[in-house]
Amino acid sequence: MLQERQCGELAGGSVGFVPTMGALHAGHLSLVQLSRAQTDKTVVSIFVNPTQFAEGEDYAQYPRTMDEDLAHCEAAGVSVVFCPPEHEMYPADASVRVVENRVARDLCGAARPGHFTGVCTVVAKLFHLVAPDVAVFGEKDAQQLAVIRRMVRDLFFPVRIVGGPIIREPDGLALSSRNVYLSASERAEALGLYQMLCWIQLQYEGGALDANALAPKARRWLAAEYPGVALEYLAFRDPDTLEKQTVLQSGVLVALAGRVGQTRLIDNIRLA
Ligand code: AMP
Repeated sequence: MLQERQCGELAGGSVGFVPTMGALHAGHLSLVQLSRAQTDKTVVSIFVNPTQFAEGEDYAQYPRTMDEDLAHCEAAGVSVVFCPPEHEMYPADASVRVVENRVARDLCGAARPGHFTGVCTVVAKLFHLVAPDVAVFGEKDAQQLAVIRRMVRDLFFPVRIVGGPIIREPDGLALSSRNVYLSASERAEALGLYQMLCWIQLQYEGGALDANALAPKARRWLAAEYPGVALEYLAFRDPDTLEKQTVLQSGVLVALAGRVGQTRLIDNIRLA
């Protein structure tokens, strides 16, 4: 990649970068479009990063659809698709990890030990290899976006981070590579995550301002309406620092994670 950047496909002009784990959907492709609108060439990486999966998670089952992914990238005007082999990203004696120690601590970081260390480590490696001017990440993974912004700030990576809005199915379910795990009945229950966020937005519009009072009501609403969702967390946070917010106001990040069957899903909104 470095050679390509210096003398090949990426020579001259600005480079945008969209890191992914493949199984590309319209959410990923929306990030490509954001990148293309702001840069001259866009690189997409496809790498199912083993270090961000905790023991017992779905690394082995994670959907891998390389042929379709390459066709999507070509149709979307991607300049380079970077698919590094695992042994090159992680030589057997690799001994360095990148740890973010504040915004990565709770929420998904608590539920998935080591997850954000795996994310920071692979993104740092990819940033060095691709050397992008701009990198685009989805707001779907709001905590990941906050963690990456910290890593870039604290380690002086010369890259501008751009967040892209969540792309949803027509009924509101956030697109995710993991949605393919859902059975038809689980798919119907999974909608409860987004519906819970909509319910919270409505309560806020109706005058609810106390996050600590609203949270248990929202949990009861979900349990009554979508009993198939096992909520892991519901959090009201500042979107940049991820500090807890007790008073609801416009812009507060409402983030949640839940399990539907064996599938763990996340979603969020900003209060409007
Ligand atoms: P992944 O392949 O799941 O690692 O995701 C790669 C990038 O796509 C991340 O920056 C995600 O936040 C982003 N992404 C995933 N789902 C969506 C979505 N529904 N809308 C927008 N971006 C998304």
